[in-house]
Amino acid sequence: MDCVFCKIVAGEIPSKKLYEDEQVYAFYDIAPAAPVHFLVIPKSHELTCAADINEQNSEIVAHIFSVISRLVRELGIENGFRVVTNCGEPAGQTVHHLHFHVLAGGDLGAMA
Ligand code: 5GP
Ligand code: ZN
Repeated sequence: MDCVFCKIVAGEIPSKKLYEDEQVYAFYDIAPAAPVHFLVIPKSHELTCAADINEQNSEIVAHIFSVISRLVRELGIENGFRVVTNCGEPAGQTVHHLHFHVLAGGDLGAMA
């Protein structure tokens, strides 16, 4: 499969890993949009973006958010961070493998 995140999970593309378990992989973004910018992804390519989440497959999303909570506390950014997930090209999605951006540091500004 020609997916950059699947290649990162497989170790075919190197990444700066923050956390890994059987279902989830977390790593720093290669082009940070904030002083702290990492991504949390399911290892499985099953879901393309948040539009694919439903009652049957949403357990992984709860797990991802528990990993985010753990990581922001470990990094000391638990009092100021933003979670973003892009869906589709108009939203700027470039990698079609579900992922959650975690951004922190400096002034993130108002959004939405
Ligand atoms: P999207 O725009 O799809 O929501 O986010 C994709 C993110 O993946 C971008 O922020 C981009 O910088 C990051 N990214 C793309 N290729 C790589 C890579 O090879 N390694 C890492 N660490 N991040 C990547
Ligand atoms: Zn993938």
